[in-house]
Amino acid sequence: MSNAAAERKILVIYTGGTIGMVKDPVSGALKPFNFDALYQHIPVLEKFNCIIESWCFDPLIDSSNMNPAFWIQLAGVIEDNYEQYDGFVVLHGTDTMAYTASTLSFMLENLGKPVVFTGSQLPMGVMRTDGRENFINAIEIASAYEDDKPLVPEVSICFENRLMRGNRTNKFNAENFNAFLSGNYPLLAQVGVHIRYNQQHILKPENKKLKVHRALDQNVAILKLFPGITHKVVHSILHIEGLKGLILETYGAGNAPTDDWFLDDLKEAIGRGITIFNVTQCKGGSVEMGKYETSTQLEAIGVVGGFDITTESAVAKMMFLLGKGFSGRELSENLQRPLRGELTVE
Ligand code: ASP
Repeated sequence: MSNAAAERKILVIYTGGTIGMVKDPVSGALKPFNFDALYQHIPVLEKFNCIIESWCFDPLIDSSNMNPAFWIQLAGVIEDNYEQYDGFVVLHGTDTMAYTASTLSFMLENLGKPVVFTGSQLPMGVMRTDGRENFINAIEIASAYEDDKPLVPEVSICFENRLMRGNRTNKFNAENFNAFLSGNYPLLAQVGVHIRYNQQHILKPENKKLKVHRALDQNVAILKLFPGITHKVVHSILHIEGLKGLILETYGAGNAPTDDWFLDDLKEAIGRGITIFNVTQCKGGSVEMGKYETSTQLEAIGVVGGFDITTESAVAKMMFLLGKGFSGRELSENLQRPLRGELTVE
């Protein structure tokens, strides 16, 4: 493989987060670095056979402030620049990166170019930063083409030594450089001395025109079960005004209490048109409704099984499908169908 054949054009989109911070030489405080001086900060970038340009959000945000309006803006930047660039690198805070990558995967239908998210645990301007390596790897991956075709034409997260499908990830560590997990899907690439792409696990685009979906419906909620959860809590979540979709985070293979009050409340909510999507609290493995008695009744009352989807991806998918105006059976069927490789149907 060679990415030296043609000079690729990469757009780096900086949204905020730790990665883009450097120390102010005078005050010593961390501040976002000036992307116009990108090559000055990371001179090795000049060695890549690609043109790197940047687009900065204004204001830059800590990703804990991420929201659908911002996702729409981000998708718009990619759409507006789609033809001019061969790949995109999105620099993003790590806290909600898995949510953004998941949502963007749904918003960007027929994506045929790499959109590689990365960030860091330590700011770029700190000596031991992981940001420099993550950034360089992301650029290399976004510009990797073979026979004029991108090697990773999907939304991915490049972090530490791994390239993962974005909508399969979650941030599982607030301390280690290895901060992201793809518990239910193999790595798209392993980053070591060489970047070894696992082609059989990478999506193959259909060569259709990019279609950007901008409607996201926020009338969703997450209900995480725990032993001791009260009727009051379940009842009030199910009666949130305007609620259309609930992500029910269950135990193990999709199990939940069998108390009448619990099942009756869920059944009544489903009767009012609320779609309940069953996602496991585990970081690996799949929901299998009907495997245990504790999930058989969920299935019987019409809870929709989420297979091995992550909570992050389930929220994103629910907002996306509700935004398309889906409800009832159509919504349930689409939730269970892999749209962007986000779940595996057992
Ligand atoms: N709070 C930061 C953010 O998510 C942390 C980071 O960048 O890693 O924006």
